[in-house]
Amino acid sequence: DHGLGSWPARCARRAPGHTALVHRDRHTSFAALRERTTRLARALRARGVRPGDRVAYLGPNDPAFLETLFGVAALGAVFVPLNARQAPPETAFQLADCGAKVLLYAPSHAELVRAAAPRRLGPRWRVRIGPDYETMLAESTAEPLDEPVSPDQPCLIMYTSGSTGTPKGAVLTHANVTWNALNVLVDLDLTAGERALAVAPLFHAAALNMLALPVLLKGGTCVLLERFDAAEVLAVVAARRITFLFGVPTMFELLARADEWPDADLSSLRSLLCGGAPVPAELVAVYAERGLAVRQGYGMTEAAPGVLLTGPDPGSGGAPGGVPHFFTDVRIVRPDRRPGEPGDVGELQVSGPNVMAGYWGAAGRSAACFDGEWFRSGDAARGDARGRVRVVDRLGDVIVSGGENVYPAEVERVLLGHPEIADCVVTGVPDPLWGEVPRAVVVPRDGASPTLAGISAYLSGRLARYKAPRSVVLVAELPRTPSGKVRRSAIRERHGGP
Ligand code: AMP
Ligand code: MG
Repeated sequence: DHGLGSWPARCARRAPGHTALVHRDRHTSFAALRERTTRLARALRARGVRPGDRVAYLGPNDPAFLETLFGVAALGAVFVPLNARQAPPETAFQLADCGAKVLLYAPSHAELVRAAAPRRLGPRWRVRIGPDYETMLAESTAEPLDEPVSPDQPCLIMYTSGSTGTPKGAVLTHANVTWNALNVLVDLDLTAGERALAVAPLFHAAALNMLALPVLLKGGTCVLLERFDAAEVLAVVAARRITFLFGVPTMFELLARADEWPDADLSSLRSLLCGGAPVPAELVAVYAERGLAVRQGYGMTEAAPGVLLTGPDPGSGGAPGGVPHFFTDVRIVRPDRRPGEPGDVGELQVSGPNVMAGYWGAAGRSAACFDGEWFRSGDAARGDARGRVRVVDRLGDVIVSGGENVYPAEVERVLLGHPEIADCVVTGVPDPLWGEVPRAVVVPRDGASPTLAGISAYLSGRLARYKAPRSVVLVAELPRTPSGKVRRSAIRERHGGP
């Protein structure tokens, strides 16, 4: 078995006493990680989890997240981390869509589980992290497993919203995740002495696959934080001598704005990786002033996720153009599909052993996302003669807010249920901290005048908070094409300003 599930044992064989995970004051060595993941895998198998079954996880960063990932992978089953910021209907949809057999969840999410878990997932199939989880491990055994796992089996389903407004589960195999981790090891020069800070949520591909897994593969240590607080992150970086940090641009911005920033001891940091959304040049410059090189990563869940990375030299900020990861290839396809010259803008497409084979249970939608072996990113990019690629825009309507994707169609569908809204369009407006935030352009029903407060109250519990519009513009009608389609570009021009 060379799958992800074998990693803890392989790491323990190399350095059993080395610390793998740190969470609050608890340290987990590689030997303990091996033992705990094996106990978990055996306990799940005893409950009936078989190869190919889906096991969902709902909660913030915690050692149990990684233990479950490895334990589930060792069984040849599939780990499904759910976005812990979602509202009940979103969580319910994903649990039903993947057909989860077991759900592990944090105590902080017990309420959400009550509201969102299907009846099929009865008490026996719900495991609360904490005492229940510990009892389950204690009652199990640490005998090594004997489950043969092939690299082309799925080990992970990660949901990413679609332009149609329904989330799709990107199915990643053991091979996809392993090749991505190798890309990171080669291109970021990680060492066994790494102390990485996982503060971005592990339920997103970036923190999990660009930071936690490559660091563990190499034999380094991951420090886990449940939530982002700039002062706390700066304190932990200094106290734990953190060497490697990943964050979305909003996090890097908040660190640099913190009162503690000027005096913070950042001398241990060697690798700073920022991505998931466009990284402003000014932000890179702020770090460069302190001698810190922020490297920009571009990627997508479907590519497990790393695609492009910028060079290590500080000051190469702005839109420097990244090069593809070692084992990954990109091409730029012009709208007319004719072979282009360097400098042409076209759709960025990706191929490589890290790219998924398709979405969960959606063969039709998967086919539309591929051009042969090339995954269509939906992003517009331009390449230069030296092979550096710069992402310039998105082809679709997706809004990226603080690194989270917001699909206008999904928000619009929920807004149309509001009793005072006759019609609406959601568009992104620039925001200095979040990159972009959603704005609702609304046609009220006769006599009504919906307010931002009223709309926010309506959306609370129906949609994740980051998807809710931050401003509302009331209009008499929406511009439409002769065929009746809303003209989004006209709306963006008129209402898309700050
Ligand atoms: P996700 O589906 O959440 O994995 O998000 C993938 C999308 O985020 C990409 O298709 C891009 O639109 C956007 N994205 C990720 N990283 C970057 C980056 N460094 N610069 C610009 N856009 C990015
Ligand atoms: Mg996406």
